Amino acid sequence: MHAAVYKVRPDVNAVVHAHNPMVLGLTLAGKKIKTTITDEAVLLLRRIEEIEFKFPGTTQLAEAVAQAASRGARAIILKNHGVLALGTNLLEAEAIVELLEAIATIEFVCYTLGREPPEVPPEEIEVAKKYWGI
Ligand SMILES: [Zn+2]
Repeated sequence: MHAAVYKVRPDVNAVVHAHNPMVLGLTLAGKKIKTTITDEAVLLLRRIEEIEFKFPGTTQLAEAVAQAASRGARAIILKNHGVLALGTNLLEAEAIVELLEAIATIEFVCYTLGREPPEVPPEEIEVAKKYWGI
């Protein structure tokens, strides 16, 4: 699975895999993790892909992960399993894993209190893209 990412993404030098409980809980409840609910998420997460369950250690999982990675994902949610974070270095990949869980927790609080998580305004996302070149 890790090697499959490195083969299709020359910009990725580190892949971190974890079993984030809040991310999995929201995903299994049918919610999409949003990349636009905080400034940090806009800058660091950018694109999240979600793939259907494939058993760990199989070629099928590696192929599904490679397809998601080739679409430019910075994080891949492995349904019923966990997450993968793709970084230019180990620190960035670990930060993506931790931020995913934080965002999922924020979204869980919003849903629990009966609100859809509000997003950063699109015009501000465009500002960030220009300002930080993302
Ligand atoms: Zn695992």
